[in-house]
Amino acid sequence: MLLQVEQLSLSLKKDGSYLKILDDVSFSIDKGETLGIVGESGCGKSMTALSIMRLLPDKARLSGKVSLGESEITTLSKKQLEKIRGNKISMIFQDPLTSLNPLHTVGKQISESLMLHTDLSKTERKQRVVDLLKEVGLPRAEELVNEYPHQLSGGMRQRVMIAIAMACNPQLLICDEPTTALDVTVQAQILELMNNLKRTNDMGIIMITHDLGVVAEVCDRVVVMYAGKVVEQGTVEELFAEPKHPYTKGLLQSVPKIGQRKQSLGSIPGTVPSPKNMPSGCRFADRCKEAMDHCKSSQPNTYTVGSNHTVACWLFEAKEMNKVGIT
Ligand code: SF4
Ligand code: MG
Repeated sequence: MLLQVEQLSLSLKKDGSYLKILDDVSFSIDKGETLGIVGESGCGKSMTALSIMRLLPDKARLSGKVSLGESEITTLSKKQLEKIRGNKISMIFQDPLTSLNPLHTVGKQISESLMLHTDLSKTERKQRVVDLLKEVGLPRAEELVNEYPHQLSGGMRQRVMIAIAMACNPQLLICDEPTTALDVTVQAQILELMNNLKRTNDMGIIMITHDLGVVAEVCDRVVVMYAGKVVEQGTVEELFAEPKHPYTKGLLQSVPKIGQRKQSLGSIPGTVPSPKNMPSGCRFADRCKEAMDHCKSSQPNTYTVGSNHTVACWLFEAKEMNKVGIT
């Protein structure tokens, strides 16, 4: 097990009171595995990533446990955390232009990460920067070192971000919507690059996305989040072939099929509830076609529906009881 997240809950202070943003989130990821975290915006995907990195505002209340190998991230000091970030865990974001420093050359920005986390000499660093640029498939690596972010295309900038993230051979790479701002062709190339890097470096990847097409392309397993909770998780094969949660089914129906025009896309009517007004029962109840009376009053338990497949929905209560022989 590379990373284990256990019963993670997060509250953030807003207008004088605490709002619960994440509620009892648990999942794990192995070396050499890509785990997708999917859901609409506002479901807590990015907050889960920031909680793992402990990049949270000062007054955030975090409970639960996050362990990376032997070290428990949730109890580390600021100093210890700095050693882990960018070194053992790296993160890349949607918009490389805002994450890159416009005033520094590509080479300097990659080199900074190496300076912070390695003992490489100046010459060694220079060589490593060029190697990294080549590794992420950038042409003219030797010249690129001296160029500035605005001189590059969006796809190239994202490759630079990946090079920075890979600089110290992280064990875990967290990607938050890394291809959302890119056109389809470039997106496909970046995803292929990430697949290759995962294979050659034996690292774990967390891929945060609202796009199930991306999940199908790169992920081994998926965690589906809704309104701060995990509602379903399983292998990509199982989840795509046999989605159980009504929300997952809705998301899958929203994926465009080949030859289908964009405007005929189905999407789930309604919106994600805000943490200010969280329903006391199932959080999806207002949008769920299969909702039953008690869904609105009590939160569903999580049921096991396959060897590595769980779902938090009352529809599976009866089925689970049948399975273990309770009548
Ligand atoms: Fe729908 Fe009820 Fe399942 Fe929630 S618990 S997803 S409302 S059936
Ligand atoms: Mg987000």
